[in-house]
Amino acid sequence: MKKILILLGPPGVGKGTVGEKLSEILRIPLISTGDLLREHIKKKTELGLKAKEYMENGYLVPDDIVVSVLVERIREDDCKNGFILDGFPRNINQAEILENFINKENVKVIYLTADDEFLVNRLSNRRICENCGAIYHLINIPPKVNGICDKCGGKLVQREDDKEDVVRNRLKVYHSVTSPLLDYYRNRRKFFVVPGDGKLEETISNILKIEEDA
Ligand code: ADP
Ligand code: ZN
Repeated sequence: MKKILILLGPPGVGKGTVGEKLSEILRIPLISTGDLLREHIKKKTELGLKAKEYMENGYLVPDDIVVSVLVERIREDDCKNGFILDGFPRNINQAEILENFINKENVKVIYLTADDEFLVNRLSNRRICENCGAIYHLINIPPKVNGICDKCGGKLVQREDDKEDVVRNRLKVYHSVTSPLLDYYRNRRKFFVVPGDGKLEETISNILKIEEDA
């Protein structure tokens, strides 16, 4: 059966980093709506132009835009055995729309946890490869060469929305509109809580245990 993992949790808890690793191990693609939107912005598509201002200020992009970006992606061929979602759904309406696509599949929801101050600290140290999107942390996952991506040699940059005041706004949005999803999924789907503030390897092995079991 098609395997679908939904990674939930606050901004900066590591959904992207954890998702990348899981994607390699489980051989299903990682789909990040944040990354898809940033690609649209980079290419200056119509959707990208609409999304840009919301993203740079830490607000959610309107559902119709995000949904069309997501649906286009999950229809691609490499998603036929399943996929991992990072950053979608982000509110109840998006979760309800998603139900139309994942109805009969094997869905597991992983909730990664950490407290706000930990997240602010982690995000302010986050750097992203301009070229391939790989994620680094100046202290926990530093690149071998300062400012340069290990994987592709691209330049590492700080996202506009990783600046502290924008991070705090993203957390506010998370607590008000995204965290209600926890109860939504707890009652409907296989739901697991995993700490996101420990070592990456531990987080991964905890999730893989869940994967093997249920
Ligand atoms: P993070 O999870 O660390 O906040 P993302 O890269 O997932 O980072 O998201 C960055 C921004 O992209 C969000 O603040 C929001 O503006 C936009 N975004 C991503 N996914 C969604 C979504 N499902 N719904 C609305 N906006 C989204
Ligand atoms: Zn790179």
